Amino acid sequence: MTFRTRRSTLVVATTSAALVAAGLVATPAGATTDPDPSSFASGVTTKEVLRHLEALQDIADEHGGTRASGTPGYDASGDYVQGLLEDAGYDVERQPFDFVHTETIAATFLVGAAPVEVIVMEYSPSTAEGGVTAPLRALPADDPTPGCEPTDFDGSVAGTIVVVSRGVCAFGDKQAHATAAGAVGVLVSNNEPGPLVGTLGGPVEGAPAGGISQEDGVALRAQLAADPALPGTLDLRQLRENRTTFNLIAQTPHGDPDNVVMLGAHLDSVVEGPGINDNGTGSAGVLQTALELAWLGQPTQNAVRFAWWGAEESGLLGSLEYVASLDEAQLAQITGYLNFDMIGSPNYVIGVYDADQSTYQAPVAVPPGSESLEQVFTDYFDGTGQPWVDTEFSGRSDYQGFIEAGIPASGLFTGADDVKTEEEVALFGGTAGIPHDPNYHAAADDLANVDLKALKINSRAIAFATLSLATDPSPLDLTDNG
Ligand SMILES: [Zn+2]
Repeated sequence: MTFRTRRSTLVVATTSAALVAAGLVATPAGATTDPDPSSFASGVTTKEVLRHLEALQDIADEHGGTRASGTPGYDASGDYVQGLLEDAGYDVERQPFDFVHTETIAATFLVGAAPVEVIVMEYSPSTAEGGVTAPLRALPADDPTPGCEPTDFDGSVAGTIVVVSRGVCAFGDKQAHATAAGAVGVLVSNNEPGPLVGTLGGPVEGAPAGGISQEDGVALRAQLAADPALPGTLDLRQLRENRTTFNLIAQTPHGDPDNVVMLGAHLDSVVEGPGINDNGTGSAGVLQTALELAWLGQPTQNAVRFAWWGAEESGLLGSLEYVASLDEAQLAQITGYLNFDMIGSPNYVIGVYDADQSTYQAPVAVPPGSESLEQVFTDYFDGTGQPWVDTEFSGRSDYQGFIEAGIPASGLFTGADDVKTEEEVALFGGTAGIPHDPNYHAAADDLANVDLKALKINSRAIAFATLSLATDPSPLDLTDNG
């Protein structure tokens, strides 16, 4: 499988010349060459991308430290991106949609009188103010499908706060079974070290649900073995509110509208922080490429569409809404989708989504053609002597709706809550044994939480891939499976 950079350039020469001859575009003053992806990429500077991150940090600072969808910080982020795009000549579409905004009000758990850290699950029902005090019960720790069958919760669970291990089935299934058995609260203990952040998948009723760490789960089971009558007090309260947010969509005015190269990044942060690495970085990288493409002032073979998604952090809602809004013909117009969700992680890897599944078996079918998109990035990195690694199509970002709709996808990722390995340190430097982003989804995901070298490498890779794909008459090789 070969990506035909040289042939693309020749085709653009013909296209541009034809358009100039037809009087459709003016001859750019002093322009003697056609757009070259490598020089286009080198034109993207850290300073320009950083300017967008500084603006998003200012916005978060002015709006309570968050840019979460459904909050004024998100709306201001949208205004910033839209303003720059419109100044550069784009028509920008705001696609509004409704969603359930959640915010933690209280999360405390007492075992007897001793506090244990608990994190309320997204979409959890709330306890009364002050919480509920009830006997504690723990389901057997050795059940291979813990809390996944209704019968796991017998009559002894009624009226208790029940503890169940993570694993095999969705948190929402465990919560539903616990609720049906009459539990007044359900706590899921992690099955790996560290705290447990979970979602019930959507607003539900019944028992309030939270996550506790594996260590606390083990300790709690030991305490219950010694004292089966031990009571617990659980105070889990969450604001759940219907709100409206939006995606931003912009497309180049030129290029074949039936062969659209699409780029996307989620613009929202979590409620807990300003979201500068996650995902100010991806948003800024895509924005700078959009601006550079407009300033280039030359038509490309294919149209390029840019998206900034809302409510990714609430379950990929904006991108799923967008894909669902397209009919078959509109879906078929999208040649490929490139996703950028965290491209400046402080303890970074340079990750390319593993479309050919050479390292990771994807949990979903990856559409044919995705390998070609992956190779645009890997060829670029190989050509510039930049090491890279595969990163998994894990279903944790906005490519999901696109690949489910059969649209080829790829993208870049510098890592979130996974721990950096010695092998990765050998390739990229940094620190083994701590996460790629130690401030993932935290208040400290601020301007200081961005590695400028990773930001530059990836911003340039976005620009390179965009122009390469935009100028290639047949960017996907569907006959070769890599
Ligand atoms: Zn993200």
